[in-house]
Amino acid sequence: MNDRSNAHYDYIITGGGAAGLSLLHRLLHSSLKDRRVLVLDKASKTQNDRTWCFWEKTPGPFEHIVFHRWQRLWFHQAGFSKLLDIAPYTYKVIRGIDFYRETERVAAQFPNVTRRQVGVDTIRNTDTGVAVTTDDGSRYTADWCFNSIFFGKVEKEKVRYLDQHFRGWFIRTQGDAFDTEQATLMDFRTPQHGETRFLYVLPFSAREALVEVAIFSNRHLQRAEYDSILERYMDEHLAYTGYYEITDTEQGNIPMTDYAFPASEGRIVHLGMAGGDTRASTGYTFWNIQQRVERIVQQLENKGNPLPAEPFAQQRARRYDTLLLHVLEKGLYPGDALFGRLFERNPPARILAFLNAESSLVEEVQLMHTTPVSKFLRALVELGVGGRKHGAWGIGHGA
Ligand SMILES: Cc1cc2nc3c(=O)[nH]c(=O)nc-3n(C[C@H](O)[C@H](O)[C@H](O)COP(=O)(O)OP(=O)(O)OC[C@H]3O[C@@H](n4cnc5c(N)ncnc54)[C@H](O)[C@@H]3O)c2cc1C
Repeated sequence: MNDRSNAHYDYIITGGGAAGLSLLHRLLHSSLKDRRVLVLDKASKTQNDRTWCFWEKTPGPFEHIVFHRWQRLWFHQAGFSKLLDIAPYTYKVIRGIDFYRETERVAAQFPNVTRRQVGVDTIRNTDTGVAVTTDDGSRYTADWCFNSIFFGKVEKEKVRYLDQHFRGWFIRTQGDAFDTEQATLMDFRTPQHGETRFLYVLPFSAREALVEVAIFSNRHLQRAEYDSILERYMDEHLAYTGYYEITDTEQGNIPMTDYAFPASEGRIVHLGMAGGDTRASTGYTFWNIQQRVERIVQQLENKGNPLPAEPFAQQRARRYDTLLLHVLEKGLYPGDALFGRLFERNPPARILAFLNAESSLVEEVQLMHTTPVSKFLRALVELGVGGRKHGAWGIGHGA
């Protein structure tokens, strides 16, 4: 730690979570690794506070800390089950704690990187760059600020919005219970109650797994209600009937919205959830963050600014997400049936490419044909004439 209050840095990273630390990690593996960087986060980042799942075709920047990977995934819905071979993709999981430790380990090798555990109060553009103030009264300046703290407020009534709220159990069974080669991506065999509810199972060993329920709705449950869904699911759908213990839990919420989070404001570049990197139709964010920080660092290296244009595929993805979110939010078609149709009628790789915003236009048309087209046309009409223009359908991913 070589912090000097009021010091000037090349870059200040406000929020050292998935996005901030991914950017830092990428910077430290680039030609910009000698730049002076200050990372500010109010948390110590010493807890395993989340588990990130994502899929990709090639090894990623955090390949060596991938906790487990699968190439075959189950999809279940009442009356329909399919074991998906997801090649060329691999489904991967990274534990938060491994990610925080790894980025800390890499950063510790660079005396030009300073990390401070402190709350960020304000971030402002100035005539010469940015100024950041913290809750201990310090003020720092930089040429650019990369921010993943959301200081705004999403006015839910003006956009399409669904929470993805979830609770998971890390369980350890007494006897062998899991096939570590096969995870469950989505299992809708739980009462839907007019919402979109599914479970997923990530087996880490024959006796250890994360079993989690995720619900797309704006009505959160009491902890006991999530637990009873998990318990019932374990009873009804896991072949194992012996004793198991819950070794840890994970609970959280991911806002799924087409609110147009600005990508940047002056010399402040917004990242992660605060920068619109969360897929509005699924809540997946981690892989998007990796793509985004790669583009940012490349642009910095090649053009001297961190403001790359958003790829067309990503722009299209925002429109599709708005459509899908509208269908789900308005209940135009049940979520379980919708995902069931997609997985029944498409090769898994096409769906995964689509959800990663790396599909071709042809693949997107093929995929759209397998949706309940009339419901999507209705959604299109409603979006065209509906008043809520502040989301991605209205003004796009603002810059
Ligand atoms: C439990 C959980 C599980 C998830 N699982 C997945 C998954 O499987 N796959 C996936 O793709 N996405 C997942 N997500 C969504 C998303 O990937 C994560 O939320 C991810 O951490 C978002 O990255 P971020 O950098 O935007 O936010 P964060 O990782 O939350 O980082 C923001 C940082 O800002 C800091 N901060 C906030 N306010 C201040 C302040 N005022 N001053 C200083 N610091 C501040 C916080 O301490 C935090 O470290 C999950 C989310 C949660 C909550």
